[in-house]
Amino acid sequence: MSIREVHTDIVIIGGGPAGITFCRKVKKLKPEIGIIMLRPEEHSMVYCAIPYALEGLFDHRKTFKRDELVTDTGAMLVRRTVKQVDLAAKRIVDETGDSYTADILFLATGALNYIPPVQGADAANVHTVKTQGDMERLFSAIASGAKRALVIGAGAIGIEQAQAYRARGLDVFLVDMASRVLPGMLDEDMAKPLHEMLREKGIHLTLSSRVENIEKNENRAKRALLSNGEYIDLDPQRDFICFAAGVTPDIALFENQGLETNRDGIVVDSRMRTNIPGVYAAGDCCSYFSGIDKKPIGGKLATNAVPMAKVAARVIAGKDDEYGGFFNGAATCVCDMRVASVGFTEKIANLRGIKTVVGWGETTALFPMMPAAGKLRVKIVADIRDLRIVGAQIVSTLPSTDKIDIITLAIQRKLTLKGLAKLSYSAQPWQSFMPAQSAIVQACENALDSYMTKNKEFSYPEVLECV
Ligand SMILES: Cc1cc2nc3c(=O)[nH]c(=O)nc-3n(C[C@H](O)[C@H](O)[C@H](O)COP(=O)(O)OP(=O)(O)OC[C@H]3O[C@@H](n4cnc5c(N)ncnc54)[C@H](O)[C@@H]3O)c2cc1C
Repeated sequence: MSIREVHTDIVIIGGGPAGITFCRKVKKLKPEIGIIMLRPEEHSMVYCAIPYALEGLFDHRKTFKRDELVTDTGAMLVRRTVKQVDLAAKRIVDETGDSYTADILFLATGALNYIPPVQGADAANVHTVKTQGDMERLFSAIASGAKRALVIGAGAIGIEQAQAYRARGLDVFLVDMASRVLPGMLDEDMAKPLHEMLREKGIHLTLSSRVENIEKNENRAKRALLSNGEYIDLDPQRDFICFAAGVTPDIALFENQGLETNRDGIVVDSRMRTNIPGVYAAGDCCSYFSGIDKKPIGGKLATNAVPMAKVAARVIAGKDDEYGGFFNGAATCVCDMRVASVGFTEKIANLRGIKTVVGWGETTALFPMMPAAGKLRVKIVADIRDLRIVGAQIVSTLPSTDKIDIITLAIQRKLTLKGLAKLSYSAQPWQSFMPAQSAIVQACENALDSYMTKNKEFSYPEVLECV
């Protein structure tokens, strides 16, 4: 086969949310720009929906994205892996040996699932969840009669999976080394009621323990030993383990190229430029900083990848733009509860050197006389020095993303507790809490009350001056 050499304006490596968004935005702003995207997988996927496909709520093919999202823009999609790069020369070589040069390289290689160094984790029935292949292997394990599943990691992806396997009738074990579920999203007090709910649902939840060793039989996991001395037996022929212990940036391809990277990925500036001229990056492969304290923070979410990619596209199309940092608005479902968070938990804020004042608001999610008016609990976290809001957590029987996004905007706009306590809101029996009882406002007022009790030298009117 003859080796081709192609030149174009932009080569995109990666076809996830960052790559697709970037491609579509550049083409919208400047249709004349030539783009080639390389990505190996048969289908780009809606990863967020995979746990629900595993649960059987819909045909798993609904998680596949259409190639036309890219090709309809006039960009060329090449379904191949990039094997070599020369970032300075902006030249890449794919798995067939074909090479591509471009004026601009856009790196959007995403992240790989992290498997901690646990002996036995290479067993054939140990999985992770991200790719189409991962999903198919998990489907196949369920279909071939798995009775038990062990999920390692009780973050959002681990919890969503554990619930999916439980819904499929499996005996499910969920283990995390943290003392609470969703440790990046919730403080202990907000997470605790969820522990009971997961246990009531029949999920065996073990916290403050790590899986230390996986014993195998003919390269299949048969027992997982935990640091608390307990063990979980598995039928090596049928049962399986799934790691959901976090992700690590997929950047090995760019080693020894002089590209600035750190533990979280490729270092980019606010315009998504790397330290190599003409090389941009966005999404899970990048390291970035918190929009709250401007210090590095993890943020491997599609909701970060997409705006980063839009900024890069606008900058490259000659319309200046900047990305203000990760705020990490995130959401998940735990049993019948809808959970959302943004910014720092109280614990994480303290670890980052921010002394906090916190408050809670609790109401019914709908007017209390309405059918299914369950509970809504909000926790707000503010910096004690200036009362600026730095985080919030919501646990509710109804969707919480709309409420958490209001608080995200408050954080982005640097509002204080007093500023958000002035929130003007709507109320209707089927759609909200009672007019006098916004849980967000309550949480801010509660935090202000607590602040004033502790800081007697400040009078309420002075606090009210903070916006
Ligand atoms: C199960 C699951 C649930 C999730 N749920 C949510 C959620 O609810 N909300 C949310 O915001 N986020 C969620 N996420 C995270 C979200 O999916 C990621 O943050 C997002 O996909 C990152 O987009 P990306 O484009 O940066 O990287 P990716 O989507 O990982 O895409 C990377 C692309 O690069 C390609 N690539 C890598 N190496 C090469 C190479 N050498 N050559 C060519 N191509 C290459 C890959 O094949 C892929 O196409 C979830 C993730 C998972 C796995």
